[in-house]
Amino acid sequence: MPNNNVIDFVQLANPSIQTLKAYQPGKPIEEVERELGITNIIKLASNENPLGPSPKALIAAEKALKKMDLYPDASGYHLKNRLASRLNIPVSHITLGNGSDSLLSLLIQAYGKEKAILISDFSFDNYAIIARGHNVGVQTATSKNWGVDVQAMIHAITDKTAIIFIANPNNPTGTYIHHDDFLTLLKNTPPHVLIVSDEAYHEYVTESNYPKTLELQKLYPNLIITRTFSKAYGLAGMRVGYAISNPVIADILNRIRLPFNVSTPGMAAACAALDDDDFLCQTTELNQQGKIYWMKACAELNINVIPSSTNFVTLDFKTDTQPIFQKLLQMGIIVRPLHTYQMPHHLRITIGTDEQNKRAVAALREIL
Ligand SMILES: *Cc1c(COP(=O)(O)O)cnc(C)c1O
Repeated sequence: MPNNNVIDFVQLANPSIQTLKAYQPGKPIEEVERELGITNIIKLASNENPLGPSPKALIAAEKALKKMDLYPDASGYHLKNRLASRLNIPVSHITLGNGSDSLLSLLIQAYGKEKAILISDFSFDNYAIIARGHNVGVQTATSKNWGVDVQAMIHAITDKTAIIFIANPNNPTGTYIHHDDFLTLLKNTPPHVLIVSDEAYHEYVTESNYPKTLELQKLYPNLIITRTFSKAYGLAGMRVGYAISNPVIADILNRIRLPFNVSTPGMAAACAALDDDDFLCQTTELNQQGKIYWMKACAELNINVIPSSTNFVTLDFKTDTQPIFQKLLQMGIIVRPLHTYQMPHHLRITIGTDEQNKRAVAALREIL
C-alpha cells in the first residue's frame, strides 16, 4: 500500500548506527584527477606498496580470472595450506577474510554481544567503527608516546570487556609494543577476554623486541593474530587477509563468515605472493631506505616525526594540517590528514619510491 508519510530511515536503523560516521579512506587518484583536473598524481595516503603487486601474483591472478564463472573454493584449501606450512601452524588455526578488516568484524560479531571492545587512544579507526556498527561498546585507554600504554590498558579492562584490539605496529602512529609489554598485557588480561594483535605491518618491523605472537599463542589461547596481503605484499585491491587463532575460535568465525568471502584471483595472487620472497625483500629494503630519507628530510625541515616501524611516517606540523594537505593535493600528492583520529596537527605519509619521496619532500619544503 503506497503511503505518503515521511519515514525517517535513519531513525529506523539500529541506534548505534544512527550517529556513526563511515571510515574515511585515503583519496583515490582518479577522484583527485576529476576534482582538480591535474595529472601525474602520487598517492601516499593508504600505505599501499609503491612497487605495485608482486609480478608473480599478477600472473597468478590473471590465470585465475579464467575461472571467474565458478564460485571460489570456500574452504580456501590452497592458500590455507601454503600459509600453514610457511608459518608452521595447523591449517585449522587459519581463517581467511576479505581483507583483514573483515576478520576484525567477524570477531566483534562473534564475541561482542552486549559487551565492549577495548582500544588505545590513537589506534586504528576501524575497530570502533565496526564495534558501533554491531551495537558493541567501545572502551578507550589513554596512550603513551602515541602508542599503547599497557598499564593504562590493563586498568581499563572491566567486566564488559570482550576483546582488546591492538594494532601492532599501530596505524596511524607507526608505534609498536615491545615483547615484554605485550607479555605483561597477556598475563594481566582475564583468559576469557580476547586479545587481537592486528599485524598488518609486521613485515616492515626490524626491531628485535617485536612480540613473537605465534609463539605466545601456544601459551595464551585467547590471543588472535590478524595479517593481510594488502600492505607489504601489494595486494590491497585483492582483499585478502587471514586470522590465526586457536581452532575453536577459527571454527566460530567460520560459522559466520560469508561462504565465498575471498575471490579466486585473490587467493591465487596471495598464494603466489607468499612464495615471492625476492619481492618482499625488495619491498622492505626500499621501505627501510625511504624511512631513513624521510627522517633526514624532516630533521632538515624541522618537522617532528613519530618513530615508525611501518611503511609510513607520521609528521607533526604543530598547526592544523588541512591547508598543508590541500596544497599538497594541488601539487598532485595525496597524503592522509588525521583529524578523524583527533590528531589535527599530524599528516600520515606513506613511504614511496625514491622518486615519490623526493617529490613529496620538495613539495613540503616549498609549502613550509
Ligand atoms: C591496512 C590495515 C588493515 C587491513 O587492511 P585489509 O586491507 O582489510 O587487510 C588492518 N589493520 C590496520 C591497522 C591497517 O592499517
